[in-house]
Amino acid sequence: MRRWPDTARSFTQYCKGEYTMGNFCTCCKKSIGMFSGENRILDDSQHVFCDRCFSAFGNWVRMLKNRDARVEIDEAYEQFSEEIAKIKIPADVRPIIIEETEKLYKLRLSICDAKRQNQSEEQRQEEEEQLSELAKRREKERRLRAMMLTTGFGFEGYRIVKYLGVFSGGVVQGTGFLSELSADINDIFGSESNTFSKKINMCREGAMEKLKMQALNVNANAIIGIDFETNSFRNNMIGIMVTGTAVIVEKIAD
Ligand SMILES: [Zn+2]
Repeated sequence: MRRWPDTARSFTQYCKGEYTMGNFCTCCKKSIGMFSGENRILDDSQHVFCDRCFSAFGNWVRMLKNRDARVEIDEAYEQFSEEIAKIKIPADVRPIIIEETEKLYKLRLSICDAKRQNQSEEQRQEEEEQLSELAKRREKERRLRAMMLTTGFGFEGYRIVKYLGVFSGGVVQGTGFLSELSADINDIFGSESNTFSKKINMCREGAMEKLKMQALNVNANAIIGIDFETNSFRNNMIGIMVTGTAVIVEKIAD
């Protein structure tokens, strides 16, 4: 009895006894045709991914391959490690992706280290600067995550010490689009399609992110009176607007 292939190469080897054209995606097992690219994590890997499947994690792979600075390589790998757990991928494929990406990461690091040996003082300084840029960005992300949010007008145990103004963030989105990450993967692997509500949630999150960024830019640490407004337009477009007042709050000492 013929078994569906685990990998592209094993299938063609099975059929023809050799490796020829007509690869199969490791992830969705679909044939990779002329019009969909072949993607590999490691250049010499036997595992091939179609464009659709690769789009779920390919960004980090591309970053690992293309960035030269150690901080960027570390960051790409860190993001990959965090996000890969959340992405829907068949259970048997996940370890392959993780293993190959880890190999790629180590390979890139060793290339980096070799380069560093021959680096000039100037280049080293440049990398230091990149590091401090990264630290700044991380700090910004930390403050974004820590930002306190409420639909009410205050927080228990805190007092508002400064009002910084009313801000809003909006997102307009077609409801027919296929999001590269979640929706796409769901469609491929046939998990239940609550795609529409997901899209609305993505819009809400997008609008909220924009509002939070604005609050952060005026050094707020909280947003009060948050209010969402949803509009639908023709052509299956939905728009979500979120408004709130950026404030600085301070814990009331007991
Ligand atoms: Zn695929």
